[in-house]
Amino acid sequence: MANLDEQWTKVRKILEEKIPSGSYNAWVLPLVPSELCDGKITLLTPHGFTAMTLKTSYGDVIAKALSEVFGENLNFEILQDEKLLEAYEKEQKKSKKSDRTQTENQFKESKYDGLKQMLSDCHLNTKYKFENFIVGGANKFAYGVSKGIAEGKSLGNPLFIYGGSGLGKTHLLHAIGYYAMTKRNKRVKYVTAEEFLNDLLEHLYLGGEKETFKKGAEKSKKMIKFRQKYRDVDYLLIDDIQFIAGKERTEEEMFNTFNTLYSAGKQIVITSDKPPAEIDHLSDRLKTRFEGGLLVDIGIPDLETRMAIVKQLVNTDGAIHLSLEVIEFLAQVYKNNIRELEKGFNNVNAYCSIFEKEPTLDVVKKAINYHDDKKQITVDVVIDEVAKFYGLMVDDIKGPSRLGKIAYARKVAVYITRELLGSSWQSIGDSLGGRKHTTIMVSHKSIEDEKRISSKLCDEINTLFNIINQL
Ligand code: ADP
Ligand code: MG
Repeated sequence: MANLDEQWTKVRKILEEKIPSGSYNAWVLPLVPSELCDGKITLLTPHGFTAMTLKTSYGDVIAKALSEVFGENLNFEILQDEKLLEAYEKEQKKSKKSDRTQTENQFKESKYDGLKQMLSDCHLNTKYKFENFIVGGANKFAYGVSKGIAEGKSLGNPLFIYGGSGLGKTHLLHAIGYYAMTKRNKRVKYVTAEEFLNDLLEHLYLGGEKETFKKGAEKSKKMIKFRQKYRDVDYLLIDDIQFIAGKERTEEEMFNTFNTLYSAGKQIVITSDKPPAEIDHLSDRLKTRFEGGLLVDIGIPDLETRMAIVKQLVNTDGAIHLSLEVIEFLAQVYKNNIRELEKGFNNVNAYCSIFEKEPTLDVVKKAINYHDDKKQITVDVVIDEVAKFYGLMVDDIKGPSRLGKIAYARKVAVYITRELLGSSWQSIGDSLGGRKHTTIMVSHKSIEDEKRISSKLCDEINTLFNIINQL
């Protein structure tokens, strides 16, 4: 890895001389090399729009610099990375927060140190509170009930909140925990179902090796500790419960944890993407327990609520100011998922501060890669065009057939989606009828290999790129 970093530093030095300094600082400097594998280097960027710009404006220059340093022709791909974006935003906020004196800071830190420690022990994220949850028609009930539960009202046990991705379930769960802990001194534990599963495995097996069961006394001591962690609380908050469905040992442990807490009168709050009855493979006894509580659906917020959420983002430290027109535009574009809406806003924020541009409607459209008259290119658009091109039906491509012609077109669709949209392996797999991410990776690689020896395939792919880009 150190080696890759060193090589990349050399590439950067070459690029620094070839690319104008403004563009170099904006585009190249934030890139972080992540891996070099099968003749391809993967670079990570905090900003989604970087990939397109770099590829179209400086693709050749980068390819040349890579071959100079690595001594071979390398392909490269640029992917957005959430962690880099978070780090970038933190840095931005830090540099803008200059008016607080050091003494003030020290005072605040020492006062909150104890609380901070407690919150992190409970795995609570202080970003998510009731105060910054915007309430509208679709989430009013979920909010009201969550607040009531946090205040200690007996409204149902468990409280089971379900709804689509990015609609505020995790936010509410943390808000309940934060409120119960800071205002009512309650013992709280937040855990995702996935963490619960991993934690259980760690306590059951030595060093993660399934074959070596922990022996006798040591094992039971470990299990007692594990159980205490989840049972010695007033509030157990379990996020994304659907994850444990069908995982028998974890379901059993969850069932026992649930019963212990329930009979001791402790509050359990659970979230999921679906109501209990619709979670595939979840055992009937857990379904029955969950349905015995209060089921609450969280829906998609309406336009005004989405606008209020953007306004709140605008008001956070270090964020740019947006006109009402732009706020409404963003809320219109991102209709179904607040996480996507936040991402769109973050892209605008980063784009405008890097280029020192005013966020006019046109600038904002560029920042989020929005095209008025053009069709928005999505995985489905790609699949549609690939199917037409090869004279197939979309259902053929998404379906199970392994017939040569169909499998070939499917692989091309994978390749084009990945190259054009930079989508994750899993999301491509989901759009292609629920295929595994490893299958998608293999498909992509096989097209990449075949392109090297087949000019026919190269031509087909180039034609498809052109067709899709002109939509
Ligand atoms: P879910 O768990 O349902 O997938 P999250 O709770 O992670 O969704 O929400 C995604 C993002 O959207 C979070 O940053 C959250 O703070 C924000 N969010 C969702 N709903 C609201 C809301 N009503 N008010 C403010 N922020 C919201
Ligand atoms: Mg969530």
